[in-house]
Amino acid sequence: MNILALNCGSSSVKYQLYNWETHCVTAKGVAERIGVGESFLLHKTINGEKKITEPTLADHLSAVELIMKTLTDPVYGVIKEITEISAVGHRVVHGGEKYTKSEIITPKVTDTIKELSVLAPLHNPPNLAGILAVQKLMPDAPQVAVFDTAFHQTMPDTAYLYAVPMEWYEKNNIRKYGFHGASHLYVSKRAAVMLGKSASECNLITLHIGNGVSVTAVRNGVSADTSMGFTPLEGAVMGTRCGDIDPAVPLYMQKILGKSAGEIDSVLNKNSGLLGITKRFTDFRDIERQAKAGDKLCELAINIKVYRLKKYIGMYTATLGRLDAVIFTAGTGENSALLRKLTLKGLEHIGIDINEEKNLATNTSSGETDISTPESKVKVFVIPTNEELVLVEDVVAVLNGAYTDHMRFPYSFVK
Ligand code: AMP
Repeated sequence: MNILALNCGSSSVKYQLYNWETHCVTAKGVAERIGVGESFLLHKTINGEKKITEPTLADHLSAVELIMKTLTDPVYGVIKEITEISAVGHRVVHGGEKYTKSEIITPKVTDTIKELSVLAPLHNPPNLAGILAVQKLMPDAPQVAVFDTAFHQTMPDTAYLYAVPMEWYEKNNIRKYGFHGASHLYVSKRAAVMLGKSASECNLITLHIGNGVSVTAVRNGVSADTSMGFTPLEGAVMGTRCGDIDPAVPLYMQKILGKSAGEIDSVLNKNSGLLGITKRFTDFRDIERQAKAGDKLCELAINIKVYRLKKYIGMYTATLGRLDAVIFTAGTGENSALLRKLTLKGLEHIGIDINEEKNLATNTSSGETDISTPESKVKVFVIPTNEELVLVEDVVAVLNGAYTDHMRFPYSFVK
């Protein structure tokens, strides 16, 4: 059985094809620059990589069509017919309060994803476009939506409500939703396996540190609090997003600069974070390199970023009470030994002690690694994330009617 995992962004579609029986990814790739010209598709299989250039992929339908054509290509494809794909899983960013778990896609679900576009205007519309494209090209294939927000629906009201007029929540759905759910879920399941416990026995802090950054407190295997909020702008310092600031700042700057709300929103999302502080860089590799070469703003950006992460670890340690492990994942979390070292420096008093040499030697290709010392009361793991695997396993579970809740799978079979 082949299952296709799709992650549709505003101008890209990422895909992975899994063979359920062999537990292997048989093909993966990305269609880029949809709707903006000079489009291309990068397709990878065990036999190598193929770049297919297209003058313009006009929309998500054309992109998904090209992905299907590529997967069935006689030379570099991996299946003969589209009908060999048994089901499709979609990453859907916003499930609001409606969805606490993955769902088989019905007209009611697509309507709700559309309605929730007001809460995620950049994400839900392309997610929906991908769903509609698959419906058109493979009308008989069942589709499953895996919501980024679903994992965080277990947060208590004390964590998800803001101290604003209650009517804002009641009438306008203003609350913390949290994001990167599939990633936090995946690494927390894997951490439980590494700890030799069931997920429901584990208290964890999971740090997803890529271009987007979120920190989650996991109590007894489920999300108890998370740093991203109503939108993915809240929380830690990110590549171009500011994270936590005084909410009075944008209002003040809007007045001072005579800008519209939309323009200020754009600055906070696209010109802040590491880029805002350094004035030049979003990529943590560049910032580390420049800081080493003496660039003071890059050094400051690193220090602000790790200070904020340390604060989240402190806050969540306090709220969790007992802490079993801290987990680093995503591009920077998996690959930057410097970020991990600085973030955990001075946390010995809460029982965190890392092995410096192991930390230095660990990156994505090391696989799941324990970088703490045997004496460390709180374990520190680096776990490469695998959001696509969550999509695939949820598709199978939902279609088998075996899906009960997020405690079910160890997400452990991948090779
Ligand atoms: P992601 O959003 O998970 O794809 O992560 C992207 C981020 O990971 C980028 O900001 C990269 O700078 C960062 N990253 C990737 N490799 C490294 C590395 N070796 N050291 C530091 N950061 C890295």
